[in-house]
Amino acid sequence: MEEGLRREIASLCQKVAGRGWVANHDGNVSARCGERFVASPTAVHKGDVRAEMAVLLDGEGKVVGGERKVFSEIALHLACYRARADLGFVLHAHPPTATGWAVAGESFFDPPFLAEPVVSLGESIPLVPYVVPGGSTADLEAAIARCDAVLLGNHGVLTVGKDAEQAFLRMELVEHLARIALVARQVGGARPIPREDVEKLLAARAKSGLAPQPTAAWSPSSSSTDSGARPDVSAVVRDALKRLG
Ligand SMILES: [Zn+2]
Repeated sequence: MEEGLRREIASLCQKVAGRGWVANHDGNVSARCGERFVASPTAVHKGDVRAEMAVLLDGEGKVVGGERKVFSEIALHLACYRARADLGFVLHAHPPTATGWAVAGESFFDPPFLAEPVVSLGESIPLVPYVVPGGSTADLEAAIARCDAVLLGNHGVLTVGKDAEQAFLRMELVEHLARIALVARQVGGARPIPREDVEKLLAARAKSGLAPQPTAAWSPSSSSTDSGARPDVSAVVRDALKRLG
C-alpha cells in the first residue's frame, strides 16, 4: 500500500504545481496508510516531487521511513485525520484566487450561491481564522468535521478526500468558485441559493455517502484508495435538483 501511496502523492504534487496553485516550496500532501501516514517531503518544489522522496510517518507525524524531512504544516493534516474517519488524503495549497479571499478574511461561499458544490463540499467553505504557524488546530478540526474544504485565514486552502483525485477535484472546485465569486462581486454580488434547498442538497449528499464520517467509524480496512465506490456527484445533484422541482 505504501508504494502506491508514494506514487499517488508524487502525481498529486505535480498536478498541483501544474495548476499554479503553489510557488517556491508551498503546498503539501499526505495520505493515510493504515495506522500511519505517507507525506510529501519538505523543501522540494511540488513539480519536482518523486515517489521515492515521500516520507512515512507514525501516528504522531514523526518520520519513520524515507530520507527526507516532513513539512512543518503536518499538524494541519493530522488534525483533519483526527476529525474525520473517512479521509484517505489531505491536500494543502495556495491557489491565488481562493487564497486572495482567505487573506482578505472573507469566506466567498458561505452561504453557497451554486447547488452542485454543496453536494461536493458541504454546506459552505468555512473560513478558519488565522493562527500562527504551529498554533492551535481546534478551529480547523471543527470545520473539517462538517465540510470538505476550508479557507485558512491569511494562509491558503485545505481540501480532503477519500482518495487523491477527490482531494484534487475539491481544490480545483474551490479555486473555480473563488473566481466566480470574484466576478459576481464585480457585477453586484452573488445571491445565495435558498436555505431550504441547501438542506435538501445536504440530505442528498448524506444519502449518497458523501457526508463526513465521524472518527469512531474509522478502521484501517476502510482506508482503501480504490475510488470505485465513490458516488457520482453529478447524478446525486441531478436527483436532488429534480426533487427541488
Ligand atoms: Zn501553507
